[in-house]
Amino acid sequence: MAHLVTRALVLREVNYKESDKILTVLAEGQGKRTVKAQGCRRKNSPLSASAQLLVFSDMTLYDYQDRWALKEAATAAEFRGLRSDLEKLALGAYFAEVAEAVSEEGIETPGLLPLLLNSLYALDKLDKPSAVVKAAFEMKLCCLTGYEPLVDGCAVCGEENPEKPRLNLSEGVLHCDRCRRELEDGGISMPLDVPSLTALRYIAYGDPKRLFSFQIPEESLGLLAGATESFLLTQLERSFRTLDFYKGLRG
Ligand SMILES: [Zn+2]
Repeated sequence: MAHLVTRALVLREVNYKESDKILTVLAEGQGKRTVKAQGCRRKNSPLSASAQLLVFSDMTLYDYQDRWALKEAATAAEFRGLRSDLEKLALGAYFAEVAEAVSEEGIETPGLLPLLLNSLYALDKLDKPSAVVKAAFEMKLCCLTGYEPLVDGCAVCGEENPEKPRLNLSEGVLHCDRCRRELEDGGISMPLDVPSLTALRYIAYGDPKRLFSFQIPEESLGLLAGATESFLLTQLERSFRTLDFYKGLRG
């Protein structure tokens, strides 16, 4: 019987039969995996703590009838701060849904699991506005999955610091407001300002270990947040149920 020892974060849990769950996990060196957690909903099951959304655990899996099943698990991080705060939990669930959407079964996306864990940790422990964590997660995820925007300078005139910078959502390029007409298909673009453009460059090109270590005024954070969310949704060409729920909570 083939065994696999790994560390994995639960991205999705679905109840199955009377006492089981089917988990979608993001595993170190493995990418996305579908894992059956047999009996985890029984009282006193040794698997129950790990078989929960957004719990990171040491896991031993075994190959059972052509699918992976959970044999043993020990929690490594539970992100407890999220579980007592519905808004943070909803945001964490959005991060998980996006990570699942961009992952393929058995294929690792380098940097994705650390990004997800760092973002959950930041929501749980760091004293950062949720909007900062969300924007950084969205833009960094785009960069890791092949949708990195070109934000060095205006894609039309080359100006490094455009006067009224905008991010074109479908082309993924920066441009000056006045250069908008010169872009091939025009398309939709989101307005930025100097601090939000600086933050965008920091997230895209800076040290991923210091992803959330930037300061940004409130008004500019609004522009950054609008740009990263619209960019991600445009590039991935879909909506996310968890994002709609999160935004509903925020009113
Ligand atoms: Zn320009």
